[in-house]
Amino acid sequence: MTDITLSGRCLCGTATYTVTGNFLRFLQCHCERCRRASGTGHASNIILNPASIEWHSGESSIRRYKVPEAARFTTVFCTNCGGPVARGIGDMVVVPAGSLDSPPDVAPEAHIFWDSRAPWSCESGDLPAFAEYPTA
Ligand SMILES: [Zn+2]
Ligand SMILES: [Zn+2]
Repeated sequence: MTDITLSGRCLCGTATYTVTGNFLRFLQCHCERCRRASGTGHASNIILNPASIEWHSGESSIRRYKVPEAARFTTVFCTNCGGPVARGIGDMVVVPAGSLDSPPDVAPEAHIFWDSRAPWSCESGDLPAFAEYPTA
């Protein structure tokens, strides 16, 4: 496993953070929940496990929303601008790649929930596309 440190912030800059942990996956998720949460064709999520978030500012301004019927699906966002920020789920942290201050040293590995994608979504390019969760 690779130890990485990522820093990011919300749209307005109220919430700033650093995430440190073991890189697990970098996935483009096309599931309906990610689409609704982001308003875009897919979420670009970097997953670290185990990992921890250090908040540098704005921790009191962030809010969590867990989809009631979901096992784990939670969004965390700034209450001032609505921008998504890193979210801890157990000892795993999911980092919205678009919130990062600089490009990470890791690249997307796959598209997931490909069968749920919107018809107007971008093409998968050279990356593997899994119908739901990755099988490899
Ligand atoms: Zn904000
Ligand atoms: Zn998703």
